[in-house]
Amino acid sequence: MVTDCFSPESLDRERIVSLLEADDDTASLLKKAAGRCRDIHRGPKVYLRGLVEYSNICVKDCLYCGLRCSNKDVHRYELDDAKVLEEVGFAYRSGYGSVVIQSGERTGRRFTSAVSALVRRIKEISDGRLGITLSCGEQSAEVYRKWFEAGAHRYLLRIESSRRSLYSMIHPQDGMHSYDRRIECLHMLRDAGYKVGTGVMIGLPFQTAEDLADDLLFFRDMDVDMVGMGPYLEHDRTPLYSYRNLIPSPERRLELSLRMVALLRLLMPHINIAATTAMQVLHPYGREMAVFAGANVMMPNMTDPSNRGNYQIYNNKPGLNDDAEITRSKVIENLTVHGIEIGWNEWGDSDRKDKSVR
Ligand code: SAH
Ligand code: SF4
Repeated sequence: MVTDCFSPESLDRERIVSLLEADDDTASLLKKAAGRCRDIHRGPKVYLRGLVEYSNICVKDCLYCGLRCSNKDVHRYELDDAKVLEEVGFAYRSGYGSVVIQSGERTGRRFTSAVSALVRRIKEISDGRLGITLSCGEQSAEVYRKWFEAGAHRYLLRIESSRRSLYSMIHPQDGMHSYDRRIECLHMLRDAGYKVGTGVMIGLPFQTAEDLADDLLFFRDMDVDMVGMGPYLEHDRTPLYSYRNLIPSPERRLELSLRMVALLRLLMPHINIAATTAMQVLHPYGREMAVFAGANVMMPNMTDPSNRGNYQIYNNKPGLNDDAEITRSKVIENLTVHGIEIGWNEWGDSDRKDKSVR
């Protein structure tokens, strides 16, 4: 069987690096094996999480992101409750099993209480049926606990790069962007009871194949439940943009991202792995390619066209003029054309305790 040549035991750091750098024929076997591994351990379905881009106001200044607080060209917004609930209602009626509430990082009681109240309302209006993922950055243990008690059960907080020195290079040294704090938050989320998701950007300046291998081993050692990772994409209003001559070509970044998905599926057969929108920026079917390489989650955007342009973490965000309805049709059509099954109305969480195979 083809998976045998990529058994998890054989995937040590050295082998992972060699597979990230291998020829296309080997990579194609790797992706096939990972797709099969997903089918065996998780089944063939892709689960949908409707994405609410709640607010682009952010206190952080990450050197790669278009929403960084120093970018004065962004019109900042926060959706009102009615708008969030309208989008959530759309997700529910559409058969998306879950929603993701994502925002720039915000602090303060007004914001954290607003999120708690929204989570509670979402549970109420969906009769507890919609799964709720939050992705609102670093918060205190108390806030994480409150949001969990309100009904959120998954949290996404990417480590961005598991190499401490690379993390420092892509964040300002202003006391607000600490690698240790990021790790601490991941532990706090686990302690609060969440299914914990993290991830990295792939193809960053100064990033090596060894770094990417270490990222995968980091996910495994942290025993995470979900991973969302995708290519680093330039944003011309960010400091990292001036290092764009140091990054791999778009084709290479997509290929590296697909290989990362495949390797992670083989290392952690039971977790949820997202086919991220950033992959779609580099190829119209980038996300479907990720599904064939072992991913099993997609996040259709539900933001109104009037606000999509204001939530551009990178340049060339796809579907800027589409509304939630058009996005849904395109997602369904692309999946259907590729013969990919959808887990309608399902959360699609893995219940298994030991999620990796060692
Ligand atoms: N503020 C929250 C959630 C929104 S940002 C947070 O930072 O956790 C969500 C993710 O977008 C980040 O974790 C980062 O990995 C990704 N991102 C930001 N800028 C990016 C870029 N230029 N290219 C690719 N991904 C990017
Ligand atoms: Fe803010 Fe998240 Fe962008 Fe960093 S990555 S600037 S925290 S929105």
